[in-house]
Amino acid sequence: MTTTETASHAMTIDGAPAVAQSTFGVINPATGDIFDEAPECTREQLDAAMQAAATAFRTWRLDEAARRALLPACADAITAHADELARVLTQEQGKPLAKAAAEIAGAAKWFTYTARLEIPVEVALDNDRVRVEVRRRPFGVVAAITPWNYPVSLAVWKIAPALLAGNTIVLKPSPFTPLATLRLGEILRDVLPSGVLNVVSGGDALGGWMTSHPTVRKISFTGSVATGKLVAAAAAPDLKRVTLELGGNDPAIVLPDVDVARTAKRLFWGAFENCGQVCSAIKRVYVPESLYESMVAHLAEMARGVKVGNGLDEDSQLGPINNQPQFERVQELVEDARHSGARMVTGGQRIGDRGYFYAPTIVADLTDGARLVDEEQFGPVLPVVPYKEVDDAIARANATHFGLSGSVWSSDTARAEAVARQLECGTAWVNQHLNVVPHAPFGGAKWSGIGVENGPWGLLGFTEIQTVNVAKG
Ligand code: NAD
Repeated sequence: MTTTETASHAMTIDGAPAVAQSTFGVINPATGDIFDEAPECTREQLDAAMQAAATAFRTWRLDEAARRALLPACADAITAHADELARVLTQEQGKPLAKAAAEIAGAAKWFTYTARLEIPVEVALDNDRVRVEVRRRPFGVVAAITPWNYPVSLAVWKIAPALLAGNTIVLKPSPFTPLATLRLGEILRDVLPSGVLNVVSGGDALGGWMTSHPTVRKISFTGSVATGKLVAAAAAPDLKRVTLELGGNDPAIVLPDVDVARTAKRLFWGAFENCGQVCSAIKRVYVPESLYESMVAHLAEMARGVKVGNGLDEDSQLGPINNQPQFERVQELVEDARHSGARMVTGGQRIGDRGYFYAPTIVADLTDGARLVDEEQFGPVLPVVPYKEVDDAIARANATHFGLSGSVWSSDTARAEAVARQLECGTAWVNQHLNVVPHAPFGGAKWSGIGVENGPWGLLGFTEIQTVNVAKG
């Protein structure tokens, strides 16, 4: 496609719309059809975005109070366009409209919360000879790269703290879900000074151009482990700083004293939220042998009762899988499990022949070593794995390169907490899963990431230390 008028949303470069020289199609996963076009950023346009960000940085960095005042204005602008953003998000991502609206509301909330965070100035030493302060400086231009599961909220997790800290940004959404992010850039043009937030769109190659661009001083990346490693390698020659928020294979460990029916409901939504396309969703559940059949039955009952459909239909609880490659990956992992003798208690096949709908699937009689247990499925499929001893379940939960999050379930909270602390992961939940709040750091251990986002800890990730050592007298 080479026309310039078909993209409904433009890139934002230096506070203005950038004319698309070519566009690429964006598919609605509920239909499998292209429903809109997005601009394909050229190298020259990326250079212009980087230059705009570098120029804007010179003044943006100077006035913390002015920056802080603009974050609530960003929240207000998002809220004023919430319905429109949610609709675009549902069409390109697939999630039910109510969930898209919640994502947009969360983005506004993140801006409001971040505006209240302090940028600390600490005194390391103050005596009769010197005063030594530890201050936090912004890096400069941040390259922000996001995936397709929560395009708006994950962008805002980067934008709000990066801007408060005094950085400027070039942001690139996933090619599967560029539209809501492009629209966000357009909306924030009216709030932020030119060049402070640039939004570009394009394929994976554009991400590579960004991570190797000489203007960038910090890369904030959310996506898969495989791409995260490429990003780290691209950052190395220039010693760019990186924060990597990567994939997970979160275990949930159920202890023998739970109320099975109640726990099954919560486990189900911890696994199937956003159609299982959550980095920190439950991706394998360890259940004691004594409760195994009962837990499998309750989870299957939940799965059968869920309404899967087009996110624009009001009664849909789950939408489609977002894209064809992910749809095929989920099918491949399910087929692999089937061939290794697993029991498809419910689901195990696509729904209909249009779009990327897949039946919520509960898989039993599978154990560690099977691909569906060992790999990140990132879809509406949950393997339920039996165990005999809790210590063994903990060891199996930890026997992975992943370490994003995990949860432990018990009617004895203290006992569950003691087990949770043994999980080798960035977030350990007790009797819940997927409760992410702006106040707490979120990040992965091992291959699930480097650094954290959110809270004061996430803010500091967009700064580097400067020691200011002043002689007295
Ligand atoms: P992905 O790694 O394929 O793509 C993520 C982004 O990176 C996209 O914008 C893509 O265009 C870009 N990209 C691709 N190749 C690149 C390269 N060589 N250099 C720079 N950028 C490049 O991931 P995805 O399929 O979009 O997202 C799903 C993955 O993201 C899952 O593994 C999920 O667990 C993970 N994720 C992690 C978190 C977290 O906070 N830890 C949150 C959401 C999703």
